[in-house]
Amino acid sequence: MNTSSDPQREFAEAVVAQLKAAGFTALWAGGCVRDHLLGKTPKDFDVATNARPEQVRSVFGNRRTLAVGEAFGVIVVLGPNKAAGQIEVATFRSDGAYIDGRRPESVAFSTPEIDAQRRDFTINGMFYDPLERRVLDYVGGEKDLAAGVIRAIGVPQARMAEDKLRMLRAVRFAATFDFKLDDDTARAVREMAEQIHVVSAERIAQELRRMLVHSHRHRAIELCLSVALLPQILPELMPVVESPDAWHQVLAKLRLLQAPTFPLAWAALLECTMEKISQSHGGDRAEVSALQAIEAIGRRLKFSNKEIEDAAWLLKHRRALDNASGKTHAQLKRVLAEPLAQELISLIRVRDLAAGRSPADALFCDDFLTSTSMELLNPQPLINGNDLQKAGLKPGPRFKEILDEVRDAQLNGEIDSFVAALELAQRVSFREPH
Ligand code: ATP
Ligand code: MG
Repeated sequence: MNTSSDPQREFAEAVVAQLKAAGFTALWAGGCVRDHLLGKTPKDFDVATNARPEQVRSVFGNRRTLAVGEAFGVIVVLGPNKAAGQIEVATFRSDGAYIDGRRPESVAFSTPEIDAQRRDFTINGMFYDPLERRVLDYVGGEKDLAAGVIRAIGVPQARMAEDKLRMLRAVRFAATFDFKLDDDTARAVREMAEQIHVVSAERIAQELRRMLVHSHRHRAIELCLSVALLPQILPELMPVVESPDAWHQVLAKLRLLQAPTFPLAWAALLECTMEKISQSHGGDRAEVSALQAIEAIGRRLKFSNKEIEDAAWLLKHRRALDNASGKTHAQLKRVLAEPLAQELISLIRVRDLAAGRSPADALFCDDFLTSTSMELLNPQPLINGNDLQKAGLKPGPRFKEILDEVRDAQLNGEIDSFVAALELAQRVSFREPH
């Protein structure tokens, strides 16, 4: 086993070593043990110990520690440098009764056996001694890790009732690790899915983000549906779910995305829904109100404004590159010069592939972007409104129309000088307004 070259991990070993040298028990705990046993690099390391919070602080010194969660027995120990990061050292504890389905009312300091019982799933409930290289497993975590099973520790209903976020965590772990959701655990989630709303929108959003950026995002969404969480979190998707062809394509789109940003994955998930809403509205304003409906979902789930805007831009322009090879350069450049052009191309690629069509538009746009310099894609405008005024044109609603037409001619390569631009502007201004 390679122990060097990972500063975070080295620091996590050093923290354990220092607590042990001071006479305490100290172990890696939870997710980092799971990841370590799977041969994955943990996102962060947590240490559990029998040292009380104040004892942890005296072992590492006040300057190197933060008492962020002292009431819960959690002390943050700061690493020697940025690469080493920081480690949460938590005193073995059992959680008291849960007040609101989210937080325990009180905690009591205890032993590793009891500490394991408060954790959510067996694969997340193990300890590891990095110095002796020994696993301490009081919950059958190793067996479930080997079999690929997500199983609640203890009575599933009771554990989900304590903290409803665990329902979504169960789905996320099952999907991202490609594990099976244990039958009893799945049943508990299904029975309690309606109660997911006691969890804050921010925490639900965070789980959704993590599921949707992961390469198994289609599995995560399927699992959400099969345990009845999907209609709770995203009821707007249900009309699409109910038409098998459309739903099949949504899942295929999600599967085909490659390392998408969250807004792109979100847009891919919602595209068919947007289409359905738009069709059901009908009329001129159908697209606008459909887009507003999609944005409202993002706000309900407390996504960031940027995430909501980016997804809305992608959906608004979802047809802007259709029949790309038949479009003028001006039409293409106006879209492809936008910051999310690459994501939009990905969206139309997976849409075509999922429908069994050749991704010709995406290929064409990719080539166009590769072969067009930034200078040609989005050149400095040749003239502006001031120039029109100086040339004696009266400011008014037609200015935009004139400037747009001049810009199109520039992007199409028909003009490339100030004089030519002004000449065209004059000609357009004499023409009857559209
Ligand atoms: P990841 O960091 O990859 O999401 P993780 O398992 O490390 O996975 P964390 O949220 O970092 O998840 O939590 C660390 C550990 O704390 C978990 O492995 C689990 O033992 C415990 N834990 C976290 N959240 C809960 C919860 N809601 N209920 C019970 N135990 C939890
Ligand atoms: Mg973690």
